[in-house]
Amino acid sequence: MSSKLSPIWDVIIIGGGAAGFFAAIRCAELNPDLRVLILEKASQSLGKVLISGGGRCNVTHACFEPAKLISYYPRGGNELRGAFSRFQPKDTVEWFESRNVKLKTESDGRMFPVTDDSNTIANCLRDAAEQARVRVELGASVLSVEKSPQGGFKLEVMKEAQVFILQTKKLMFATGGDRKSQNLIQKLRHAIAPQVPSLFTFNIKDKRIDGLAGVAVEDAVLKMDSLSARGPLLITHWGMSGPGVLRLSAWGARILFDKKYASTLTVNWLGDYKQGTTLEVLQRNKDWHENARKKVAAHSAFSQIPIRLWKQLVYFIGDKNWADVSKAEIQKLAQELTAGEFRIRGKGQFKEEFVTCGGVSLKEVDFKTMQSRVVDNLFFAGEVLDIDGLTGGFNFQAAWTTGWLAGSALSTDRERMHG
Ligand SMILES: Cc1cc2nc3c(=O)[nH]c(=O)nc-3n(C[C@H](O)[C@H](O)[C@H](O)COP(=O)(O)OP(=O)(O)OC[C@H]3O[C@@H](n4cnc5c(N)ncnc54)[C@H](O)[C@@H]3O)c2cc1C
Repeated sequence: MSSKLSPIWDVIIIGGGAAGFFAAIRCAELNPDLRVLILEKASQSLGKVLISGGGRCNVTHACFEPAKLISYYPRGGNELRGAFSRFQPKDTVEWFESRNVKLKTESDGRMFPVTDDSNTIANCLRDAAEQARVRVELGASVLSVEKSPQGGFKLEVMKEAQVFILQTKKLMFATGGDRKSQNLIQKLRHAIAPQVPSLFTFNIKDKRIDGLAGVAVEDAVLKMDSLSARGPLLITHWGMSGPGVLRLSAWGARILFDKKYASTLTVNWLGDYKQGTTLEVLQRNKDWHENARKKVAAHSAFSQIPIRLWKQLVYFIGDKNWADVSKAEIQKLAQELTAGEFRIRGKGQFKEEFVTCGGVSLKEVDFKTMQSRVVDNLFFAGEVLDIDGLTGGFNFQAAWTTGWLAGSALSTDRERMHG
């Protein structure tokens, strides 16, 4: 730690990620008299912003109705409803635009900087923090936190193999999914919902999809236990991925963890086609005289199903012509197309985005201020909370919103906060 660093602070934020920076900037801009410090253990700040969205940073999502927005959060949606009425994606867009960073919307609603470069976002945050005179200390790892007898908190911080003691009136954890930091929070008597991964792909070894990596269907309905998700499905070298799979992985994060990522996935390759309708289409194909001498495997009966996939889904029919297919085979095919069962045997990594489900129990946090209901002057923002969203910019939006709310509350003194 630089010898010039004061041991006494008004606000210390642990974690120099999206949530930590947003809170610090908001706090320091609202109240320039406060001494605000970010402690970041890595050698650079905003590491996840830089790698996010494949290096493009999917900043937020073009969904501007809080009631709809919360439906994208498997955990935390209810708590975020009020928070989004105070700071939502529209505000995020304006926040960045007011700092000369323009965002654009892609056809699926994801919003990126027009530069398609996450450095634009990281640099904007770093510049705003510097202008607001937020102190950012890199390579500074918080080892312990305790309440001071005289109020506020005492922190033990390690930097360059030396330990420093810092004091602060207010403290915020914006430590993301860091497990050691969760232990520090537990020691302050906060409950933590167990952490498990969210947003992952499914490992599936099955001859029906073997060798089809890269083949996709636009609209599949996926079911697992009582959960279902709909969206594009992509076959990969290891199994299945795509928005539908990621959605199911997020909603089923806990169930799948408990089952050690072994479960049965039911796939309707035809979206919302019912088995009866599918049967009718197949029967028409069989009855159509021009088809009589054509191989079933030669042409997909459904334009939604690519021919390579179709060939493998009809494997049990062999090289029969339509005329020779039995009623039982037609029925089995309808079943295969609308409710094919696949064994999930493990999870894979979705490289574009990854979050943890679990974190600080939401019951113990006031979502108007992001302040702890258990410990005075303690705040939380971002992924450290038991909040996680689907892929598409929702996770950053939760970090911006909770960071902004926390920053607003951190900037006020106690009397004003309760006055
Ligand atoms: C590869 C990848 C791509 C992603 N892409 C997107 C995307 O495009 N859009 C989207 O919405 N979401 C995306 N996400 C999710 C998103 O990055 C996170 O939800 C978001 O970064 C959470 O921000 P945060 O500030 O809460 O936590 P983090 O960004 O995790 O920041 C926490 C910081 O705290 C520091 N820290 C932890 N403990 C301590 C300690 N004891 N002392 C000091 N420092 C500490 C850590 O080093 C870290 O820098 C992606 C995630 C990954 C992994």
